[in-house]
Amino acid sequence: MSDVRVIQPFRGPARGLARIPGSKSVTNRALILAALADGETILEGALFSRDTRILVAALQELGFSVDADESACRIKLVGLGGRIPKAKAKLHVGNAGTAARFLTAFLCLHPSGDYEIDGDAAMRTRPMAGLLRALESAGAKCLTPGGSPADSFPLRLITCGLVSGEVSCDASSSSQMLSALLMVAPLASGFSVRLSGTTVSEPFVEMTAKMCAHFGRPLIQSHGAWICSQPGAYRTPCIYAIEPDATAASYFIALPAVTGKESRVRLAGYDVSGLQGDTAFATVARACGASLHEETGALIAHSWTALRGGDFNFNAFSDTFLTVAALAPLFDKPVTLRGIGHTRHQETDRVLAMATELERLGVRVEPSAQSLRIDQSLDTLTIHPGREAMLAASRKAPVAIHTYEDHRVAMSFGILGSYNLHGNGQPWISIQDPACTGKTFPHFFEALEQLRGSFLRIAVDGGAASGKSSTSRAVAAAHGLMHVDTGAHYRSITRALLSASATPDNTRSVIAALPTLQLGTKITGHSAQLTLSGWVPMAAELRSPEVNAAVSRFAAMSEVRHFLFEYQRSQVSVAQAAGFSGIIMEGRDIGSVIMPDAEVRIFLEADVDARTARRAAEGQSDAVLSRDQQDASRITAPMVCADGATRIDNTSLSLLEVVEKVGLLIAQARS
Ligand code: C5P
Repeated sequence: MSDVRVIQPFRGPARGLARIPGSKSVTNRALILAALADGETILEGALFSRDTRILVAALQELGFSVDADESACRIKLVGLGGRIPKAKAKLHVGNAGTAARFLTAFLCLHPSGDYEIDGDAAMRTRPMAGLLRALESAGAKCLTPGGSPADSFPLRLITCGLVSGEVSCDASSSSQMLSALLMVAPLASGFSVRLSGTTVSEPFVEMTAKMCAHFGRPLIQSHGAWICSQPGAYRTPCIYAIEPDATAASYFIALPAVTGKESRVRLAGYDVSGLQGDTAFATVARACGASLHEETGALIAHSWTALRGGDFNFNAFSDTFLTVAALAPLFDKPVTLRGIGHTRHQETDRVLAMATELERLGVRVEPSAQSLRIDQSLDTLTIHPGREAMLAASRKAPVAIHTYEDHRVAMSFGILGSYNLHGNGQPWISIQDPACTGKTFPHFFEALEQLRGSFLRIAVDGGAASGKSSTSRAVAAAHGLMHVDTGAHYRSITRALLSASATPDNTRSVIAALPTLQLGTKITGHSAQLTLSGWVPMAAELRSPEVNAAVSRFAAMSEVRHFLFEYQRSQVSVAQAAGFSGIIMEGRDIGSVIMPDAEVRIFLEADVDARTARRAAEGQSDAVLSRDQQDASRITAPMVCADGATRIDNTSLSLLEVVEKVGLLIAQARS
């Protein structure tokens, strides 16, 4: 897999269904609760990502029967009511915070366990001490491999089951430590958990409590401590549906901020009042200008009505601060993000990472990345509007964003890069190590691609001077399509054949000259032009009297037509690769031969006087009727009104009126 991904800006609206995976937090909690339940649980809509795989693998290593069907997003797990089959195991938790904390508390349920757990380098620096101290007070020994008291990974856990009584947990650096203790609490009679100080991310604690209740063991807070009034093994709900990930959804709520008008992204299964605290992101997004509509079982994100700066506290849903931070340089006023100090100890120092990468784009942030490096206590970030700076920074080449093995850095800058900053579709952001999204959202970039809307093909045919080019150009600009003028292809070939002294009467001369022509494409704005050996022929050359006189004769030759057919059809992939939401191709045989299955097919007409007058107004004397006759009577791909094409007579219509008519056909095709 490539380790850099260039983000192709959206030229048109984002449309369609965002394929959001299940929530990581819910999946990993459900795995632990199902393992502690008595009997089989089927998790539907489960996330398959690095962090959930780590937990699945650890449970298997510990002797649990876990059956994972990735294509169906389903995990079947047989819980043993608090029993852990293996008393000894070596586990690796990578950089998965939930797996690390949940497993550590879970293992302490074993009455005589001896476990070794390690994580990767980043995990070794993440906070664990609060949890370890609490577990020690409940009887466990938490040691380094050398046997001294441990504060972090690598760990050796010598367990004796959880003794009853109250444990106190300092979860100020991670609420996962408190959640880990709450999930094991019902398995130990008389076990209660008191939070010393405060914790970050309250909503995650609420999620844990709600899920414990769903698995039959409600926890209550009594005199400031959490207890389970009816302790025992969890009860399996048999089937448990995992909610789509609310943090992942934030990227698709944000996307219509940067894509064209009439964007409409559907987030299926998203419930603003669901388990996940990160649904609060929707409130911040609305304050910034998002236009969100709730439907039963889905949220629809439309094009934002404004890009407003402001001052927001992200403490309770901090995973989503990166989404706003990445959009912030496009806002009208500075954006201040508060309550994010604890994210400096997550996958990476997220505040520093965002500041560094925004500065790389030329954006001014306060405090600067340099100050953040010096002072670890800084916990607020202000981002200033930076459109001009980003234009300057990316003028020559896309700016390569470093992602620090942090999936959220990669995804949030993926959304910013979807913005058509340069106005011409020029990519301006590339993402290093895009595969890091595998932590929670392995197919993020594919999901983004799918929202370019269903690719639309429009075939426009008609006689000479029937208004094909002016209509197609205007429609392309209005709908974010790539425009291809195939008449210009025949003119370019005619010009080149004439220069090679080939003539329409001498087929051999044409057959000899054609293979010497090297065809390519140059995109300028919405227009894709044919290049010959890298050069776009001059417009004046293509409309010279010699070319006007010879073009229809060369175009009638099957050798010439077949030479161009494949090239013309290949322009669909060129448009897709360049990020257009569709293609509009004009000529004489587009709806009949080149794109016979185009979603929209149009045949333009106008009476001959109007057409002659149009050519005259362009300073040309073109015998439109005789050219039409030649084009309609040739054997290979004659000019016809394709089956099912809509005829539009524009003799007395303005360009605007024709474009509106085409717009209606597009709307019909898209719906
Ligand atoms: O559209 P324009 O007048 O530039 O086209 C020049 C000529 O190219 C047409 O008269 C026709 O002979 C030829 N042509 C064609 N098939 C197309 C487009 C143009 O034969 N698809």
